[in-house]
Amino acid sequence: FKKIIRPASSKDELDQMANTFNSMMDLLEENYKKQEQFVSDASHELKTPLTVIESYANMLKRWGMKRPDILEEAIEAIHSESIRMKQLTEQMLLLAKGDVQWELKIEQVDIAALCRETAKYLQQAFQRNILIHVHTENAFIRADEKKIKQLLYILVDNAVKYSETPVDITINRSPSSLSIAVTDYGIGIPKEDLAHVYERFFRVDKARTRATGGSGLGLPIARRIVAAHQGDIHIKSEEGTGTTVTVIFPV
Ligand code: ADP
Repeated sequence: FKKIIRPASSKDELDQMANTFNSMMDLLEENYKKQEQFVSDASHELKTPLTVIESYANMLKRWGMKRPDILEEAIEAIHSESIRMKQLTEQMLLLAKGDVQWELKIEQVDIAALCRETAKYLQQAFQRNILIHVHTENAFIRADEKKIKQLLYILVDNAVKYSETPVDITINRSPSSLSIAVTDYGIGIPKEDLAHVYERFFRVDKARTRATGGSGLGLPIARRIVAAHQGDIHIKSEEGTGTTVTVIFPV
């Protein structure tokens, strides 16, 4: 990323062009570094499940046929790590499309119904008793239903994953906007980490989030979905008290 160096004294048109060129170079360099970081983080993330799959495949090769217990354990591990890799690659592809506009399929979306559906799905998916309350009146917006479903899934899944408490989903309508707030009363996010939660692969606690299946791509995707609908996303969180993520869409 070479830059044009002009004498400090020159104030002519060429100097202005050099400045414009230099700021373009800065931007290119910044984007290049971000891309490089993404590739390096992505490879690292994929390496972990791949290593697990490889070692279980080795175990199968050596003892699989003679040891039914190993056979069962290995198949289970290979299956769950493959699912994790598939989810990761799907999330990465979605984010990689980043700067090209997503094609949204805009239609009338029943937000209240989607929230109830997400709550029901996650209540069944998590194998522990969780209470997810949906507080809403009828609420419709024009949006891409698949993407909104994905957004709700990310927010409610996080709320359940990182807290052992009930979760409240509250929908509010004003004449010009519709907001959805997802609140949990769990561990919260430390103040110094709040500014980073939209960075790709960022996790407050890497060890713990890997155990819960977290990749650090949920909130970056959530933010992109909201932005694609010209909305806003805010997170209010306090350690030990809980977290509220609010998304607001214009109507
Ligand atoms: P992940 O897939 O790891 O959940 P996200 O991008 O959705 O990735 O979230 C980034 C990080 O922010 C998480 O790893 C977690 O540490 C933190 N986080 C997100 N939501 C919550 C929440 N409701 N409560 C506590 N921590 C959260």
